[in-house]
Amino acid sequence: MASTIALDGSFCEGGGQILRNAVALSALLSKPISIQNVRHNRRPPGLRKQHESGINLAAAISSAHTEGVHLASTSVTFNPRKIELPKILTADPGTAGSTTLLLQVSLPCLLFSSSPTSPSQLTLRGGTNASQAPQIDYTQHVFLPFMKRHFGLDIALNIIRRGYFPKGGGAVFCSVPSVTEALPPVTLTERGPVQLIKGEARVGGLPFILAERMKNAARATLLAAGVSPTTIRINAVRETQEEAYGSGGGILLLAETGNGCVIGGTSVSTRDKAPEEVGNEAAEELLRNLRHDGCVDEYLQDQIIIFIALAKGRSTVKTGPLTNHTKTAIKIAEQMTGATFHLEENPSGFVIISCDGIGYTPP
Ligand code: ATP
Repeated sequence: MASTIALDGSFCEGGGQILRNAVALSALLSKPISIQNVRHNRRPPGLRKQHESGINLAAAISSAHTEGVHLASTSVTFNPRKIELPKILTADPGTAGSTTLLLQVSLPCLLFSSSPTSPSQLTLRGGTNASQAPQIDYTQHVFLPFMKRHFGLDIALNIIRRGYFPKGGGAVFCSVPSVTEALPPVTLTERGPVQLIKGEARVGGLPFILAERMKNAARATLLAAGVSPTTIRINAVRETQEEAYGSGGGILLLAETGNGCVIGGTSVSTRDKAPEEVGNEAAEELLRNLRHDGCVDEYLQDQIIIFIALAKGRSTVKTGPLTNHTKTAIKIAEQMTGATFHLEENPSGFVIISCDGIGYTPP
């Protein structure tokens, strides 16, 4: 039996992402792990429902034996067995825990199969548009298009119902195909000019005017920064009663560039924020991510690390300043896979991430 890899959950970002990346790679590579100091840099530390549910989902995929997977636990062991695909699974933290983070932990384990098989089917329940996590729209319009463009993966995502904080109650269906070959490397160093900024400001269970106000504020911020009005196309949407559970909203802005990159800017509505503030935040985030001329934004940056570590050969990606999430993801990927990363920080603000991936293929 492979020896257990000991990981420190307090490293760098010290949040839930260490856990998700480590568990996903543990399941995929059949390497047992033990993580101490789980979510050490969060208050309160330890597992929350979302993390518990995510680990249990990865355990169901890999028939893993786990210890310490309960609320507030700060020490977890995960001992996987063989992954046999396809899987049909449901995960439900019973809270507004993020459905996109449930996808984050389970996706890598569902992507590889030693022989062709039909897609795995996941039903993920919980929150769809929460802060400190990708909004479902971000996953749908930024992350999944990246997976399609660079790895040829057609991961279908269907929002059955949106769920807002604090009730949750959303549901998302994902169909995840698997591949028998290694993922190809990614070369993404020329962003190209911004051709279109599109987006959607949305509310569920709240008056339509709030979405309009988010939209107008985002547009005004983009115009004030010198973006041409003909480049901006933002819609305001009010979800029907069937489309959303609870009440909430958010905005997603996407800049599409000449070289096919998609850069995001998002913000989530909360009770204490005026819609104008939400719209402004998303526009500011987008502008910040366009300024450094990188090909992936500050969130996609950490979300692609695990995949370029698994891909075959050298990937090269230009991005903005590295986030702690990315530094953390790199450390975990190096420790778990043996991939090597090289970071080149340019004085003008961008960073080139190079990775020699391991070319993982299923046994
Ligand atoms: P914790 O509660 O410990 O913070 P967490 O499980 O929410 O834990 P983090 O470690 O903070 O996890 O990781 C959050 C993940 O969500 C990261 O992959 C990050 O890129 C992503 N993320 C956070 N905010 C956004 C956003 N606005 N848009 C897209 N992705 C986001």
